Amino acid sequence: MMPPRAVSLMPDDGDLSCGASRPSPCDAILRDLQRHMRFLGVSHARPDGDAVGSVLAMGEMLRAMGKSADLLLADPVPQVYRTLPEVERIREARTVEPSRYDAVVILECDGAERTGIAGLERMFILNIDHHRTGCDYGTVNWIDPDASCVAAMVYELAQLAGVPVSAGMATCMYTALMTDTGSFTYPGTSAESFTLAHALIDQGAQADTVARDVLYSVPAARIHLLGIALSRVSITGPLAWTYIRQSDLQHYSATDEDTEGTVNYLISIAGVEAAAFLREIAGEPERYRTSLRSKSSVDVSRAAAACGGGGHRNAAGCTLDGPFSVAVERVLGELAIELQRVADLPTPPMISPTEYEYGLEV
Ligand code: 5GP
Ligand code: MN
Repeated sequence: MMPPRAVSLMPDDGDLSCGASRPSPCDAILRDLQRHMRFLGVSHARPDGDAVGSVLAMGEMLRAMGKSADLLLADPVPQVYRTLPEVERIREARTVEPSRYDAVVILECDGAERTGIAGLERMFILNIDHHRTGCDYGTVNWIDPDASCVAAMVYELAQLAGVPVSAGMATCMYTALMTDTGSFTYPGTSAESFTLAHALIDQGAQADTVARDVLYSVPAARIHLLGIALSRVSITGPLAWTYIRQSDLQHYSATDEDTEGTVNYLISIAGVEAAAFLREIAGEPERYRTSLRSKSSVDVSRAAAACGGGGHRNAAGCTLDGPFSVAVERVLGELAIELQRVADLPTPPMISPTEYEYGLEV
């Protein structure tokens, strides 16, 4: 079967505000939610708070609309999100049978392949995303780079659909909002972020419980690994980077998710404007998952895209092939280019190979 024809609904094509008289992407998505019955809801592999929170909220919204909604992720829900209401509804799989569904809602993915799930490309795709690197790969596409999280877009849909937001749904959306705004600190944090937080707390989200479960319940292994990563930090002018190898994870019986957030410590350093964290991928020696972060107008999504990845201006990622020194040089080179675009920043000095070797010895 041929995939359905794509409808372009990028923000430039129309009014983005739901309920406006001109057709908006949000209206178009709602029409398709209303006219189909059997849905699949998915988000990206290695799910974060917005992926898990928006999938759960979308599932509940669809059920409230009288639809069926299976929820699927390619990777396990990280430990810190396993207290979310109805999280047990999310199944883990890497293939789907398209004939079981009328449509798939893909949340928070700037390409269908980011789901890590095979079979979606043949389905009727509703693409709801907020990445700067988002594109019209779906049948219907709603991409709003100004949204602080995809859960905020799900909230907008629920309002438009007249679906009441339950306390459970509010908790899921609040988790997405809190994590995607870096606890209301990232540059994308806006008045709307706080308005949404206010509404979600009014509707029953427990801000302190979410903070405790997500921020203050990390396994001890994560702190040990953080110690190793921070002991290897290399800072050259406005650029900081570090890495973790699989042998480090094995040493602490840690998992990949135990390195989440490490990069945020690097970007917290005074004077550092761009940061990279490389993690060797399990079972793929000398391949590195790489997280990039920046401050202000330094655009790390460009550096990530140049390395085959993507993301947002201040938070992006990619996968790099080794050897290690080649991977490091590649990503630091792209970050240096982005730093140079910002006129008032010093150009980072070239990093000598001995510094990589120093890093390897630690
Ligand atoms: P993180 O560093 O937390 O894994 O990712 C930061 C941001 O970059 C997230 O919004 C994530 O979706 C995006 N991102 C990370 N890795 C990739 C990648 O390989 N490809 C794309 N397109 N986006 C990525
Ligand atoms: Mn997000």
